[in-house]
Amino acid sequence: MIPVTAYQDRAVAVFGLARSGIAAARALMAGGASVTAWDDGAKGRDAAQAAGVALADPATLDWSRQTALVLSPGVPLTHPQPHPVVVAAKAAGCPVIGDIDLFAQAEPSLPRHDVAVITGTNGKSTTTALLAHLVQACGGTSVACGNIGTPILDLAPLPEGGVYVIEMSSYQIDLTAHLKPAVTILLNTTPDHLDRHGDMANYVAVKRRIFGWQEPEGVAIVGMDDEYGPGAVAQLRQAGRKVVPVTVTGRAADGVSVDAAALYDAELSAEPILSLAGIESLRGRHNWQNAAAAYAAARALGFAPAAIAAGLRSFPGLAHRMEVVGTVSGVRYVNDSKATNADATERALDSFERVHWIVGGKAKDGGIDSLAPWFPRVTRAYLIGEAQDAFALVLEAAGVAVERCGTLDNAVTSASRHTGEGDVVLLSPACASFDQYPNFEVRGDRFRALVAQLASETAA
Ligand code: ADP
Repeated sequence: MIPVTAYQDRAVAVFGLARSGIAAARALMAGGASVTAWDDGAKGRDAAQAAGVALADPATLDWSRQTALVLSPGVPLTHPQPHPVVVAAKAAGCPVIGDIDLFAQAEPSLPRHDVAVITGTNGKSTTTALLAHLVQACGGTSVACGNIGTPILDLAPLPEGGVYVIEMSSYQIDLTAHLKPAVTILLNTTPDHLDRHGDMANYVAVKRRIFGWQEPEGVAIVGMDDEYGPGAVAQLRQAGRKVVPVTVTGRAADGVSVDAAALYDAELSAEPILSLAGIESLRGRHNWQNAAAAYAAARALGFAPAAIAAGLRSFPGLAHRMEVVGTVSGVRYVNDSKATNADATERALDSFERVHWIVGGKAKDGGIDSLAPWFPRVTRAYLIGEAQDAFALVLEAAGVAVERCGTLDNAVTSASRHTGEGDVVLLSPACASFDQYPNFEVRGDRFRALVAQLASETAA
């Protein structure tokens, strides 16, 4: 655990008691704060009680006595409207922060270290895990944390020279003020979560806030391949900041770029640093962006290009992101359950020439309309979940063979009957999982289990 002493002998309210909320409460208590916590759900309250955290309904709190409200990133801060607990805290002038800000306030007590922050609409977890892996492959110590893995305040402090690689969602950025990352990465910005950020302008502004946290010598790594990247780079350059632009649409005269799978570092050499072709865990152009950004970050942290290249080659990849979960009768089954929006699914469809596509769940705004250019690659679509009828109409209108399967189980069974040697069955739902599963991990695990079952039935 990383104890937080900044609130010693002072009152702090913690609201939202999933894993990171409970970790925050415990870290504050270990640092001598007087903590009262609450969650609207009984499950969170029970878990907090089991962890020895005192509970109190925030409606009963004297907010003038609280020195901070530590809010779970899942609780609305501004949009669609602030949660009543936020309104009460702000009315009393009580700062509203998150667990990563508590970590930042505890940093002076930790062994000397670096912080790298990663955000973007898509690719955060992959890039975070990849950068943590690269640091280790180069002989350093690191941990992937934030929106991924163990809650940051539950970590054992890294030894001297360690790197905290922190994945941050826009919600977590909104709740952070004291962090001073040596390296920041903004991978991409495309519409998502607008229900929680009001509009695109606000969403873009929140994502860019990470650059403002850095000291002047901090390095900002910016994906250039969406509408907003070039503007961010121009702004940072104008402010005299160190910027590494990253593009995967061809070789660039500056920054890090990927052209036909070859990764170039303009600062170093005209020759490619390595080829990403054949690295299964970094398949697809979207993963080239993640690889290029993580490479740039590892360079900014001072590691050698050859060691970083070796690290890229040995990256094991992350579950539920274009994860090959099995090959049965020559058919490859790919689990991309993490693709909960059309933009993420677009990358998956773009990675295959022909595909049997399992799609559906709880649809996001815009559904799958934006994927129309990739429909010709779909041999057959197996529709699941709440979205199946709406998606079926869209696909049928485009001439794609569709089947309303209802469930993932039916979809896998049917796909196994319609495929043969060399085919790919891709679960890339372009939808949230909540209509049928608690989260995308459970959905992906079910897919993996179904493929394992298919394999054992086929073997028998
Ligand atoms: P996040 O943590 O931002 O949700 P992940 O790394 O978990 O991102 O990847 C989620 C999905 O997004 C992947 O399954 C993939 O389809 C897609 N994806 C990954 N990296 C990128 C990228 N750089 N640009 C666009 N889409 C991506």
